[in-house]
Amino acid sequence: MRMFEEDVENKLINYLNHARDNELEIMASTECVCLHCGEYFSAREVHFWEEHDHALSGRCPKCGLPFLVGDASGLSLEKKDVEPIVVQMASKENSPVICGAIKQFCLDFQAGKLDVTNLTYATQYESYLRFLDSTLHDTSATYALARLYVEGSVATKANPDTALRYFEDDALSYDGNSFYQAGLIYLTRNTDKDDKKAFECFAKASALGSLEGSMYVGLFYLHGNAVKADEDFGLNVLLSVIGNFYSRALTEHVGYPEFAFCSFHIGLCFDEGMGVRSSAARAAHYWLMTIAALGQIEESQLELLPWIPEFYERWQKIRDANKDAADTPLFDEDTFFESFSEQQDVTSLKFLNYMNYSEDEGTLRFGISSSAPMLVLDTGSSCFALLKDTEWEMTNVKFERFSLDNVFNRFEFVSQDVVRFVMDDPIAGPKTVVELRFEPLPEEESGDAE
Ligand SMILES: [Zn+2]
Repeated sequence: MRMFEEDVENKLINYLNHARDNELEIMASTECVCLHCGEYFSAREVHFWEEHDHALSGRCPKCGLPFLVGDASGLSLEKKDVEPIVVQMASKENSPVICGAIKQFCLDFQAGKLDVTNLTYATQYESYLRFLDSTLHDTSATYALARLYVEGSVATKANPDTALRYFEDDALSYDGNSFYQAGLIYLTRNTDKDDKKAFECFAKASALGSLEGSMYVGLFYLHGNAVKADEDFGLNVLLSVIGNFYSRALTEHVGYPEFAFCSFHIGLCFDEGMGVRSSAARAAHYWLMTIAALGQIEESQLELLPWIPEFYERWQKIRDANKDAADTPLFDEDTFFESFSEQQDVTSLKFLNYMNYSEDEGTLRFGISSSAPMLVLDTGSSCFALLKDTEWEMTNVKFERFSLDNVFNRFEFVSQDVVRFVMDDPIAGPKTVVELRFEPLPEEESGDAE
């Protein structure tokens, strides 16, 4: 008996060697077999590959794991030879080789490297997550299961209650993001909506470092939802997280609904004078951020944001109310420079590509390249999040160019009307590249809080 087991074990190792880095072998094969689930396939059915150290291993069309052996390997695919190996594999369900393959399958599925509309793979995904969660107590699998029940898939029906059970699993009791997600379910589910429980979850999330959790704590205080209203505190919490949302949205280059939502609510505070003196200009400043943030979000996701119509309605109002000052930008150039000054850094050089100045019209056009991403708030209705290059046009400008250099790394406000593009050279010291002088603008609307 012992001899027999050793024999099977050696065979298994031999077969597994052919399941790794076997792209050419599978291509050359007619038939292949999966050592994990024991199924036979035509080699032409192999469409997905696991990538590891630049080597590709064919994934089983049924179980998705990379344990296929093709007939071009020279090994026998006869049932009598393969079956004992499959049984031997099954006895090693918890082995690092199989668990590692299962984890990689889940990661590839989450990253969209596998066909998520494939019912077979979507079913396997859920069952593998369950295995990792219950057998290996893998907390990332617990979290992924919860997300799966929030979003649903072709194989798994979305179910907020089940999602909640996983988010509130003890295994995730140190995970701020899980509390945040649980809070969202309590806040938004159709039945048993529970604001108090939602607040508890957001407060725990916030304590564990979740910015999103903090944002909701701020919103609950702002609107006196489940807690005694405190507008000052609520707004301050929102202001304390918006900067982080902002840099995250810029550096990760992905749609970030929380950034849009947070800037929308800060704009609301300035628009309505909640926790602060009302200011149309400040409201507009934050709502331009909202527009930039919404511009990064995919259309299908936008439909899930119920507050968008209200936002555009208010945005329209604030723009209409300032139409009289048609030639006067509601948002002066300072807003533009403010958006840069947050990222002052000697290492993040910006380049002036060109400048066109019309003395008659007092307009200045120039192009800027930046090594670091930057947000530009237009003086009109639009707003851009930029990665590298931008063109800009300014009005009411008198400018003087001091040098032929076009590299600068910071803006310097000499006075209210004068801005310099300065290159701080660690050795030579600061050097003014360009100086801009703004002609005085007609009186801006009163009530600016700053
Ligand atoms: Zn299989």
